[in-house]
Amino acid sequence: MKKDPATRIQELEQFGEFGGVNPSITDSSTYTFLGNEEMIKTFEGEAEGCFLYSRHWNPSNKYLADALAAMEETESAWVTASGMAAITCALLQLCNSGDHIITSVTTYGGTYAFLKNYLPKFNIEVSFVDITNLEEVKAAIRPNTKVIYTESITNPLLQVSDIPELSKISKENNIALVVDNTFSPLIVSPKELGADIVVYSMTKFINGKNDCVAGAICGTNEFINSLSSVNDGTAMLLGPVLDPMRSSSILKNLNTLHIRMKQHSKNAIYLAHKFEEIGIKIIYPGLSKHPGHQVLKSFMNEEFGFGGILAIDLETSEKASKIMEKMQEKGIGYLAVSLGYFKTLFSNSGKSTSSEIPEDVQKQMGLSPGLVRFSVGLDNNIEYTFEKIKNVLTELGYL
Ligand code: PLP
Repeated sequence: MKKDPATRIQELEQFGEFGGVNPSITDSSTYTFLGNEEMIKTFEGEAEGCFLYSRHWNPSNKYLADALAAMEETESAWVTASGMAAITCALLQLCNSGDHIITSVTTYGGTYAFLKNYLPKFNIEVSFVDITNLEEVKAAIRPNTKVIYTESITNPLLQVSDIPELSKISKENNIALVVDNTFSPLIVSPKELGADIVVYSMTKFINGKNDCVAGAICGTNEFINSLSSVNDGTAMLLGPVLDPMRSSSILKNLNTLHIRMKQHSKNAIYLAHKFEEIGIKIIYPGLSKHPGHQVLKSFMNEEFGFGGILAIDLETSEKASKIMEKMQEKGIGYLAVSLGYFKTLFSNSGKSTSSEIPEDVQKQMGLSPGLVRFSVGLDNNIEYTFEKIKNVLTELGYL
C-alpha cells in the first residue's frame, strides 16, 4: 500500500542521544575529529556521517531535513533560514549566467522581485507566463532554458499548476521543474508528480506558529550535495543555514501538520461555500467552479482537503481596508501578512505581499485591487466565525 506523506513522517524513528523521544539539539557550530586524516576526508566529501561545520550540516538540521525528504519522497533535503533562501539558493545553483527561466507570473511577490529585478544582475533571463496555459509555457522554451518555476497553488490568485503536464514538458526539453509547495504541504506531493526540486517557506503551514522564518529544499542526493559543496555550493557559500534550535522546534511542529492541514481545509471550504452563498466573489480551489479544481482533484492527496487559503474580491483597496480593520476589531483574525497560522490572517494582496508586482502587471494577471487573501485559522467553531464576518459585511453596508 502506498503510504501517505504524513505516515511517512510518522514512521521515522528519530531518537535523542540519551533515548529522548525528541532528537537532541546539537548546539555546536564546529565538530571535533579523532584524527586529522578524518577531517581531510570530510572536507573532500569522502567521510560518511561526519559533521564538519554547522554552515555545512548540523545533526539537528539533518533530522528535520530527513523528515522533509520522507514527506516529499525525495532522496534528500536541506533546511534554510527562510523560504526566500530556499528559492534563491535552488535557482542560483541550477542556473549560470546566460541561462533562462520560465516562471508563473503569479508567484509570491518576493520571488517575483528576485526573478524580475535581481537575476538580471547575473545575466539570467526570465519569462513570465500564465502557468495554466501549457501552450504558452511550451512557446516560452528557448535553447538556454534551465528551469520551469511555479507554485503548486499560486500566491495570491490560487491558480493550480498542472505539475504532471509541466513535468512532461520539462523532461522532454531537459529542463528542471522547481515547485514551491508552500501553500499545499501534504495536499500536493510535487516530486511524486514529476517535479525535480520542491521548495518551501516553512515559515507558513509547516511550522504553523508564526514564531520564525525558515525554508527547505528537497531534491536528489546529487542536487543537495551540490548545494552544500564546500567548493561551489550556493547554500554553503552564501550561508543561509537554519539555526539548529529552530529546526528542532519546527520538527516537532511538522509532526502535527496533518491534523492542522485537515482543520485549515475544513474551515476554508466552509467559509468558501458561505461566501459564495452570500454573493461575495470568491477564489478557492475546493469550489467546483474554480478553473483548477478538476486538475487539483486529479492529483491531490484528498484527505488533507483543498488547503487553508482563500481569496475574496472586495473590488477596491479602500473597501478591503475598512472590512479588514473591522474584522480585526471584532476578533475574527489579524490584519497581517503571512499564512498557515492557527489564527486567521488577512491582507490586501495588491498592496502587501504582491506589492512588488507593478500595478499594470497586477491588472494584466487578474489581481483585483480589492483582493483580500485569507489564511483561514484552526477555529474550532467556524460557523460562529462566519456569523461575525457576515455581521461586519452587513454593518459596513456590503451586504
Ligand atoms: N513562497 C511563498 C509561496 C510565500 O508565500 C512566501 C512568503 O510569503 C515565500 C515563498 C517566502 O518565504 P519566507 O518569507 O519564509 O522567506
